[in-house]
Amino acid sequence: MDIKTMDQQYVANTYNRFPLQIVSGKGSLVTDETGKQYIDLGSGIAVNTFGVADEVWQQAVIAQLGKVQHTSNLYYTEPCAVLAKMLCERTGMKKVFFSNSGAEANECAIKAARKYAAQKKGPEYTTIVTLWNSFHGRTLTTLAATGQEVFHKDFQPLTPGFVHARANDLEDLKAQVAAHQTAAVMMEIVQGEGGVNALEQDFVQGVAKLCQEQDILLICDEVQLGNGRSGMLYGYMHYGITPDIVSTAKGLCGGLPLGATLLGEKTAHVLGYSDHGSTFGGNPVCCAGAISTLSRIDEPLLQGVRDRSRLIVETLTGKPGVKSVTGLGLMLGVETEKPAGAVIAQCMEQGVLVLSAHGKVRLLPALNIPMDLLKQALAVLVQACA
Ligand SMILES: *Cc1c(COP(=O)(O)O)cnc(C)c1O
Repeated sequence: MDIKTMDQQYVANTYNRFPLQIVSGKGSLVTDETGKQYIDLGSGIAVNTFGVADEVWQQAVIAQLGKVQHTSNLYYTEPCAVLAKMLCERTGMKKVFFSNSGAEANECAIKAARKYAAQKKGPEYTTIVTLWNSFHGRTLTTLAATGQEVFHKDFQPLTPGFVHARANDLEDLKAQVAAHQTAAVMMEIVQGEGGVNALEQDFVQGVAKLCQEQDILLICDEVQLGNGRSGMLYGYMHYGITPDIVSTAKGLCGGLPLGATLLGEKTAHVLGYSDHGSTFGGNPVCCAGAISTLSRIDEPLLQGVRDRSRLIVETLTGKPGVKSVTGLGLMLGVETEKPAGAVIAQCMEQGVLVLSAHGKVRLLPALNIPMDLLKQALAVLVQACA
């Protein structure tokens, strides 16, 4: 039985996989089962920060694998503590809770926000306001947070206490906050699954001001955009705001599962013994990978992200069949005249892997994709759009 048939027979059918089996790779090149190579502009959905089988990353992970692969959270380990310190020092946040995914990072953010509000204002202050078109994960609580009804049908009842406001509509958000006993506002600075749209500066700053004035917690979901992809360490840093809680995951470890919830001044001491936990959270191998990844996300690397971003935007803007290019840094959405699926299929045929988001072509290349490979891939994409 070939692998595609086996997978279709035995793996739950929740994914609409491309007709492509990836067997290996190096950097921004991946190879399928026939030996055909592709330039990868998807990075496993923004996870492989430095591409596939990056040697520096591999060595960091292998070194920790040779020491101890898991201890449980009943004991101290060096990678977990060192990574938490790095994250706090680079963001000004005070404490970190580690989990294994973006959804879990958001769950922790929501729990911390609800407990803070319960203690500070009263147990009825439970509402979390999120934005329409957002995406916050697939658990029943993060689905409730996700402002896209298509994900909700068939799974009711979801966790109560979530309402949605229109993105870039401060009046609507204020109305939602006023109409409910609100604990927090949660938002993605660039809505990823929702179509790769960056929020407007005025809106984000208005939300931050409102939250501060009313002691409502501001949670930034940086699961996809965070860890250098925006061209700064975290996307909110482009907006001059200080969130109370930041959740992140995808690119944090560069390819192994790791979620992190960064807790600021207000919530640093909210979660105490037995309030939250995760068996795998803060796994030493994942944390060692993340220390290596994070320590390479320095100013020259971030400048490289911004340069690559500019190259992509300038190359695609105004080309035949390209309606718009949106997003931030190396998280970009291309609105095409052709259906995105047709563009994606033609790119794959020509040896370039791109993704989709809400009817757009989505680009999430490795942060260090070599310029020549990027130019080669863009030439293919330009042709496919025309
Ligand atoms: C992918 C994503 C999530 C969910 O992360 P998982 O690791 O799949 O649970 C949450 N929020 C945003 C913004 C994401 O892009």
